[in-house]
Amino acid sequence: MSADRTTGHRQPAQPTQSTEPAPSIPDAAGLGLLSDCGSCFGLCCVALPFAASADFAIDKDAGRPCPNLQTDFRCGVHSDLRRRGFSGCTVFDCFGAGQKVSQVTFGGQDWRQAPGTARQMFDVFPVMRQLHELLWYLAEALALPASRPVHADLRAALEKTERLTRGSAEELAALDMPAHRGDVNVLLLRTSELVRAGVRGRKKKERRGADLMGARLKGADLQGANLRGAYLIAADLKGADLRRADLIGADLRDADLSGADLTGALFLTQSQLNAARGDATTKLPPALTRPTHW
Ligand code: SF4
Repeated sequence: MSADRTTGHRQPAQPTQSTEPAPSIPDAAGLGLLSDCGSCFGLCCVALPFAASADFAIDKDAGRPCPNLQTDFRCGVHSDLRRRGFSGCTVFDCFGAGQKVSQVTFGGQDWRQAPGTARQMFDVFPVMRQLHELLWYLAEALALPASRPVHADLRAALEKTERLTRGSAEELAALDMPAHRGDVNVLLLRTSELVRAGVRGRKKKERRGADLMGARLKGADLQGANLRGAYLIAADLKGADLRRADLIGADLRDADLSGADLTGALFLTQSQLNAARGDATTKLPPALTRPTHW
């Protein structure tokens, strides 16, 4: 994440300022949001269903292990996923939910050793993934200077979400996820407005949930655009200016981002990038890495 950690050093006393050190801003690594497959019991390869398509070579039901999953919970075709028709696996990111469920919620006991709790583990995994995704967005929002007016609320939401991830399997399974997502989303929306305020022609760039599949947006000025949940599948975004654009939940599958500028793009995830196309000239936010297949 691009979050800067503050030093926590006490500043010289000022008559009109608090002498308390600024609270540190948690980052993705500190929150455990970077996936560590070696500490996970292959949960994304078991718990989730997938349907035979351009992304997956086979049908698989939720709770059934993928036939490529080895006994050590590693993928037997990891180095060859795209060629074998499993490009969907290269796109997926659990935000560290897999290792949290494996090592924290279930204390390191895997579903093969304890088949009696396997179903519960598979049910909890998608819940944890959503919580970790929210933590990712909240940490990003907290690191933005423009969101200072809502920092206290963002921090409280982050702490609450973090606390929820440490609940028992029963508590996680019973969580009202839509309600919690809704509460967090209000803050993310407010953050988005604060960050994009003052962008030229912003009103014309309100494209929330827009159907832009295959749209020709080469070189488009989308700076500060609201593209929340927009369908940008296979859109031509070559050379587009997407600085400070809100891309939360935007579907970027096969969108061409070659030469696009995503510096400061809001709430963009590695999964979205992995699903898109791009090249060496695409400018990325510092928290994200250039997909190896670009
Ligand atoms: S192909 Fe590999 S990464 Fe994909 S679900 Fe199967 S075991 Fe997991």
